[in-house]
Amino acid sequence: MSNKPKCLGKVYLVGAGPGDPGLMTLKGKSLLECADVVVYDALVSAPILAMINPNAEQISAGKRRGRHSMVQEEITQVLVDRAKTAAIVVRLKGGDPFVFGRGGEEMQDLVKAGVPVEVIPGVTSGIAAPAYAGIPLTHRSHSSSVTFVTGHEEAGKYRPAVNWQAIAHGSETIVIYMGIHNLPYITGQLQQAGLSAKTPIALVRWGTRPEQEELIGTLETIAAQVEAKGFGAPAIVVIGSVVNLHETLSDCRPQFLGT
Ligand code: SAH
Repeated sequence: MSNKPKCLGKVYLVGAGPGDPGLMTLKGKSLLECADVVVYDALVSAPILAMINPNAEQISAGKRRGRHSMVQEEITQVLVDRAKTAAIVVRLKGGDPFVFGRGGEEMQDLVKAGVPVEVIPGVTSGIAAPAYAGIPLTHRSHSSSVTFVTGHEEAGKYRPAVNWQAIAHGSETIVIYMGIHNLPYITGQLQQAGLSAKTPIALVRWGTRPEQEELIGTLETIAAQVEAKGFGAPAIVVIGSVVNLHETLSDCRPQFLGT
């Protein structure tokens, strides 16, 4: 017996990129333009929401730290229900759906429910935000490897806890998502693991958007700088000597599109 519900449509897990509408993929944009239903996350930028077919039903899943307007099960249920009556259901997520975006979990739930589903990758903030701050993640004189890691305090609750000792020595560039609230702990752990207190670190907040802000320091100074500036999420953290390139390359930062 098949558990497939009678589905008219398909759910597309679409990556919206980090904000600049110029970073939306052509495939994602086409789907937004002909979608019947769009369920979007809080981090999706206004110019991207403006691409949505005006006749589409728009539903905010609205997840931001501490404020969950819909729990995960409700989101999945809405997607399953809508796929029974609508042809094109878009689940729109910030950045890339499969990079700390719960896209894998949602896809598993949809597959389990028998709903056809496809992923459209997006430009992830961990790559785009550093680029818009003039920080290449690899460079022949600085770094041959990059690690993407979550800095969320509760990482161990939902997925394996982060081994900061291993991360410190695993690659030359470290990119941390959701790292701001836990930054004093993370920078402490990395220093305990043997990274120099003088290791350069950059924070890029609201990367690729007109309100982008950067904060540059070292492992030993950054927590106090964050405190002094009241610097907050959402921000990407970059650690490693590639951060020094910011000084010469940040003047060549990309132009924001569509603002
Ligand atoms: N799937 C997303 C990540 C979601 S996790 C992606 O691929 O980008 C949420 C975290 O992503 C935030 O806490 C922040 O660390 C980062 N983030 C998302 N958008 C950002 C932006 N425009 N600028 C800087 N960081 C961003």
